[in-house]
Order: sequence, then C-alpha cells, then structure tokens
Amino acid sequence: MMIATGTDRAEIREELSTSTYDLLVIGGGILGTSVTWMAAQAGLRVAMVDAGDFAGATSSASSKLVHGGLRYLQTGNVRLVAENHRERRALAADIAPHLVKPLTFLVPIYRGGPHGAAKLGAGVFLYSALSVFGDGMGRVITPHQAAAKVPALRTEGLRAAAVYGDHQMNDSRVAVMTVRAAVDAGAVVLNHAEVVGLRRSGGTATGTATGTATGTVTGAELRDRLSGAEFGVNARLVLNATGPWVDHLRRMEDPDAAPSIRLSKGAHLVLRRHEPWKAALTTPIDKYRVSFAIPWEDHLLLGTTDEAYEGDPADVRPTEADIAQILDEAGHAVRGEQLRREDITYAFAGLRVLPGGPGEVAAAKRETVLTRGRGGMLSVAGGKWTTYRHIGRTVFDTLAHLPGRPLGDDLADILPAVPLPGLASPDAVALRLWTDRERGARMDPLVARHLATHYGTIAFDLVKLIREDPALGERIHPDGPDIWAQAVYARDHEWAATVDDVVRRRTTLTVRGLDTPEVRARIAALLG
Ligand SMILES: Cc1cc2nc3c(=O)[nH]c(=O)nc-3n(C[C@H](O)[C@H](O)[C@H](O)COP(=O)(O)OP(=O)(O)OC[C@H]3O[C@@H](n4cnc5c(N)ncnc54)[C@H](O)[C@@H]3O)c2cc1C
Repeated sequence: MMIATGTDRAEIREELSTSTYDLLVIGGGILGTSVTWMAAQAGLRVAMVDAGDFAGATSSASSKLVHGGLRYLQTGNVRLVAENHRERRALAADIAPHLVKPLTFLVPIYRGGPHGAAKLGAGVFLYSALSVFGDGMGRVITPHQAAAKVPALRTEGLRAAAVYGDHQMNDSRVAVMTVRAAVDAGAVVLNHAEVVGLRRSGGTATGTATGTATGTVTGAELRDRLSGAEFGVNARLVLNATGPWVDHLRRMEDPDAAPSIRLSKGAHLVLRRHEPWKAALTTPIDKYRVSFAIPWEDHLLLGTTDEAYEGDPADVRPTEADIAQILDEAGHAVRGEQLRREDITYAFAGLRVLPGGPGEVAAAKRETVLTRGRGGMLSVAGGKWTTYRHIGRTVFDTLAHLPGRPLGDDLADILPAVPLPGLASPDAVALRLWTDRERGARMDPLVARHLATHYGTIAFDLVKLIREDPALGERIHPDGPDIWAQAVYARDHEWAATVDDVVRRRTTLTVRGLDTPEVRARIAALLG
C-alpha cells in the first residue's frame, strides 16, 4: 500500500480516498493539528484536512504570545496561569526553543489608570511565582528604567511600570512545523480540501441543507478547492476541529444542533518600527482589556480588539474602525511618531471562540468546548495557542476513552516531550549558517538569524538548495530577510500551494508589507 508522505496533492488525495482511517480530523488549525500529532504518536492511522491553508484562519491571526495570561489572575484563575506557564516553558525549553523566544513585558502605570502600582506589582510578582521565577521575578521599575527599554514609551503621567517575562513566536511557522511533526509521526494531511458533507454508516452522504441526521458519522465528502476534484475519506471516528466553523459542521451532522459557541473578533496591526524595542508593552485600557505593543519580526505588532461577531467566519477582516481603535488604544502608552498610518504594513483579524451563552465577550473565559453529536462526531473549539499540546493531549485522551472504544484498545503511550522538527539552539544554527561559507560568500547575518529562528536545523536543508542553485540565496525582496530557498522549500516540503500560503504563512513577506505584485507574480510562477 502506498503511503503519501510528500506534498504531491494528487497522491495524497488518492491515499485519503482509498484507505480507512482510525481518525479523520476536520480543520488544520493548531487544535486539529495538535490532536492529529498526538493520535499519530499513539500509533493510529490519522488523516487531517483543511478547507484553506493549515493555520490559515485563527491560528495565524493571534497576538503571537506564548504566555501564562496575566489577565487570568484578575479572575483568580491561578491554576490556569500555572498550567499555561508550564506549557510555555516546555515549548521554550524542550519542544521548540528554535521558534519560541523570550520577551520582557512592561505594564505602564499612568496616573488615573485602571490599576495602581501596588496591585500590578503584586500581580506580576504572583505571575512570576506561578512559573517558579523561571523568567526572573516580577517587579516594578521607574519610568526612567522603562523608557530605557522602550524609547517610544509615553512618559507624561507615567508613575512606574510593572515587569514580567513571557514568550513570543511566529504562529504560522510554528503551526507548519507542527503539521510536519504530525506527518513525521505518520499522519496524512491535505490543505485546500473542504469538507462539504459527512459520510454515514451505510455510505450515504449528508450535506448541510438536505441532510438527515441518521447513522454514525464514518467519514466525509471533500472538494479540493484548487483542482475542483471531489473525493471522500472513510474513518472510524471523525473530529470536528474547525474553530469558528465548529457549529457549521455540527449542523452538517445534525441540522437541529443548537449553537455551542459565540464569536468575538480580534484585529491586529503590524507597523514599521523606527527604534529598538527591548520589551513589549501590555497597557491596561479598562478593568478587563489590555492593548499590546509587541516587537515582532523587526516590526511592531499592535492589538487587539474584542467585539462580538455574528457574520460568516470567512469574511472576518479588520475594518477602518478597528484600525482607528487599535491606534487610539496604543496611543495610551506609545508616542505618536511610532503610530503613523503610513507605517502600517499589514492588518489582520481573527475570531475567538467562546463558550455559548450570554455575557460580555471581553470578560468571557477562553475555554475549550468539547461536544459529541447525534452521529458520534466529536467537536472541539476554543482554548489557547500556548497550551495547544495540552489541549491536543486532553482531546485525544477523550477520544481514546469514548464508550465502545471506537479507536480500539491498542494505543501506544505518547512520549511527554517530543520536539518540533529542527530543534536546536537558534544561536548555534545562526552561527553555523554565518560561518560555514567562505569569506566574501558568507550568509548575511540578518538572513542567518531569520532562518535559524524560523527553521532551526532545517535551515541547513535550505543551504543545500542554495549550494545547488546560488540564486536561491538571494532575498525575495531587498527590504526583508526572506530568501528564495524558503519559497522553494515551502512548495516542496511545507504544502504551500498558493501565493498566499508562501507570502503570508511560510515567509514573513506579507506581514512586512513586501508582497508586491512583482513578488507575488514571481512566486506564482515558481508554484507553477
Ligand atoms: C485575536 C486573537 C488573538 C489571540 N492571541 C493568542 C495569543 O497571543 N496566545 C495564545 O496562546 N492564544 C491566542 N489566541 C487563541 C488561539 O489563536 C486559538 O485558540 C487557536 O488559534 C484556535 O485554533 P483552532 O485550530 O481551534 O482554530 P482555527 O485556526 O480557526 O482552525 C480551524 C480550521 O478549520 C478549517 N475549516 C473550517 N471549515 C472547514 C471545512 N468545512 N472543511 C475543512 N476545514 C475546515 C478552517 O479553514 C481553519 O483553518 C488568540 C485568538 C484570537 C482570535
């Protein structure tokens, strides 16, 4: 039997439609990817499909924080913070030190602000204690010390700043590395493949409009959005991990299914940066909400909004009002020169999934919602990027112990700390990339650093491509560190099939505002 481990779409479709899987995961955001990875590690035959690109929806629209969640302390959720910290530190130390990087955060405390210095000082102390002071001790510093870390900080009315440590990442790259980890463990995956109906025991398909909710869900009908090809996948168990679309799929299973979630939109802006930022800012806006200003990918990431959303999830995008709100709220703590509209390189929005029911979205708990429908399909949504391994593991344990044991009893133990591909110290990789070539032909240190922190040792595979064709060592756009070898690698080894897959999620061209028509045309030609 053929096993499709490459990125040839026709071959993967063939594999998907001719085998029967133990588990089919619908949705290749970080949650679906994590469960897929865990199931493959347990020795199951698992398939994962996504209607768009892997992490093309919420999972590439986050604030890019790997964090304990300082704001959860306000609701007294100490256990949740400790659990988030544990996962954060595991990712940064053991699972993905090449992709997850430490970052200092300042909470500026202004005269008349929503929280006082004593409360915030105690808050950051407790926050750091809950991660056993692994990132130093949370403390309060003077305005002068704060401005030395963030020269763009507004100092009028500033009384002090609270300091704490967390981590950050490039969410789309961590996601694609996790997809790769799942495939390395034996999963079969396909992006741009939309589930348009569910298979039932007996083989009948039901779509959203005409479906009758009888029988057990035993697979799905799919449409390849790129080629138009239609095919089906058979599985003993189906998991719906479609994030904001979770109720849409639940209604495919059972047209009468009641809503399980509500949505809240969060928008972000990326701006060119004019000064060094040695720390990020977490600025309280009111009792619950904060505004982040985070140095990210040599730029400044600002956000986010939090507003109930009732439209089609596919249509979510930042509006003019979102942009105005983000700039306005950032202006509480960031000087105007750093908040010019002409410096915006990119704006994006995503949808938080909140447990259904009434209440203010900004105060709602960000919890994972797991339900089982009349056709036996499991549906899961919500949670945090930071704890994706933990959530994946918990969901997998639930699947493994369902009544009747549809996954069987023969499951291998999952190892506790399997790293993401490319694991290494990013400093070591950058040094090797920079020094390995002859003088005069050395890799630019900025490019070396960029590759080391986005690929780890996989950067050495990119170097092999450059050795075979030196033109692939050139920058795609002169103003950014992404090189052509990344685009070729994305096409051949990272399931990139559209221009956006490459410019938005495998490289940093779009977020830096460098995906010009010429760049896009050259990448389209490369993808064929
Ligand atoms: C604004 C914002 C900021 C955030 N910031 C942070 C942060 O800084 N740190 C943190 O830890 N967490 C953060 N989060 C939370 C985190 O981003 C989410 O918990 C996580 O990305 C959810 O992943 P998911 O896989 O459930 O959903 P998604 O990433 O949305 O994945 C669902 C997938 O299902 C696919 N799909 C839908 N319908 C179909 C179909 N019919 N067939 C096949 N596939 C389908 C979609 O294409 C999509 O890719 C943030 C969330 C938001 C909204």
